[in-house]
Amino acid sequence: MNPIVLTRHKDTLVEYPAAFDGEVNDNSNLTSLVGSIVGQHKVCGGRLEIGSTSEIWNAIICRSCYLRVVFPKEVDTYGKLREWFAMMIKIKDPEVRGETIDH
Ligand SMILES: [Zn+2]
Repeated sequence: MNPIVLTRHKDTLVEYPAAFDGEVNDNSNLTSLVGSIVGQHKVCGGRLEIGSTSEIWNAIICRSCYLRVVFPKEVDTYGKLREWFAMMIKIKDPEVRGETIDH
């Protein structure tokens, strides 16, 4: 799988082969992985885990450096994750990104 850039600071998710039976690709489902490892934090080397953090949002958390990024639950594949963060990186205002809106 191609790496997925998560933040403007170039935090990047790369495949974590030991965690999967076979490769992941952009069509691979994320929802079924809630509570488990979804990849590795490039450069940092930490495990990236996915968690359900509210009714609407999930988060990817690095178990090494504590990076935490949120995304809507409807973003349920690696491909949608790539598209979501590519879009979010272009939007600099957290309010426009929806992160400060009280759902
Ligand atoms: Zn990390």
